[in-house]
Amino acid sequence: MSPIYPWQHSVWGRVARPDLLPHALLIYGRQGIGKLDFARTLTSFLLCSESEKTIPCGVCASCHYLSQGSHPDFIEVFPLEEDGNKKASKVIKVEQVRDLGERIGLTTHQGGRRVVLVYPAEALNVNAANSLLKTLEEPNSGTYLILVSHRPGMLPLTVLSRCARLEMPLPKEQEALDWLEANHVSKAQSWLVQAGGGPLLALELSMGDDEPVRLVLLDALCHPSELNVVNLAERIMHVDFVKVLTWIYKWVFDLLAALAIGSVRCHAEEAEALLRLVFRIERIELARFAQKVIDRMRTVNHPLNVQLCLEELLLDYRALFVSRKALLR
Ligand SMILES: [Zn+2]
Repeated sequence: MSPIYPWQHSVWGRVARPDLLPHALLIYGRQGIGKLDFARTLTSFLLCSESEKTIPCGVCASCHYLSQGSHPDFIEVFPLEEDGNKKASKVIKVEQVRDLGERIGLTTHQGGRRVVLVYPAEALNVNAANSLLKTLEEPNSGTYLILVSHRPGMLPLTVLSRCARLEMPLPKEQEALDWLEANHVSKAQSWLVQAGGGPLLALELSMGDDEPVRLVLLDALCHPSELNVVNLAERIMHVDFVKVLTWIYKWVFDLLAALAIGSVRCHAEEAEALLRLVFRIERIELARFAQKVIDRMRTVNHPLNVQLCLEELLLDYRALFVSRKALLR
C-alpha cells in the first residue's frame, strides 16, 4: 500500500470521504511530492471492503488484489511502451482511452466501486483527451476517475472543466528535510533544491541517477515561456557539465532538424513539442545559439563558474522564443 506522506495528512482528511468525493478528480501539484502515491492510496481506500475505516485496511481481499496488481475493478491508464521499444512512450493514445470506455461500460466484478487512474494526465494526446470527455460526462455510478498531473495547464479546458481539482501541497522545507533524513539521504538540503522542493524527486536524485535531471531539463526546454532560469540552473548544476551541455546540444540539434526537415533525430518522444517550438524561432538566432553551445563545449575544460554558464545559456535559450515584435516594443 502506498503511504500517506506527512505533508498530505490534512488533504487526506478532507478527501477520504467516498460519499462526498466527486466522480472525476484531478490531483495536481509540483513534481516529486507524492501525488501518484496519494492517488493510489485513495484508490485502495475506495475499493477496500472494510467499510469502517479512515485508511485502507490493507488485509481484505480487495486490498490484497490491489497490492498484487490484479484488482478487476481498478484500471490504470498511462503511457505504454512501444512494441520493441524499451523506452516508455510519453503519450496516452486514443486507443487506450477507447479501450477504457469499453471496460467501464461493463458491470463491476465485485458489484461495488470501480476506480480509473490516469497519469500523467498531460500525456493524453488531443484525441485521447477528446475521447475521455464522454467518460467524464456520463459517469457510471460507482466509477471514480482520478487524474494526476504536474502540468494541468497542458490539459484541454474541456477536460479541466469536468474535473474537481485537488492541489497537492508542497511540504514545508523542514518537513521535507525531516522526511529525507528519515530516508537516510545525506546532503538533503542540496538534493531538495535540485528537486525544486519535491522530496520524492530529491530522494530519486540522491540515488545517483542523472536521468531524472535530464527529464527535468527536457521538460523545461519544452516550455520556454515558463522557464525559471535561476531555479533550473540550480537544479542541474550538480550533474557533470559536459553531460548537461551534450543534452542541450542534442536538443538544439533536434530543433535545427525540425526546422530544416520537419522531423527530429534524438528526441522522438518530444517530437510534437519540438515541432511546435520551431514555429516560434528565427532560424538565424537558433544557429547562433547552437554555435554558443558548441563554443561552450570547446572551452569546458577551462575554469569556469558552471552555474553562471548555465544561467547564461538558459537565458539565451528562453530569449529565442521571445517574438521579434515583442523585442521591438
Ligand atoms: Zn481493505
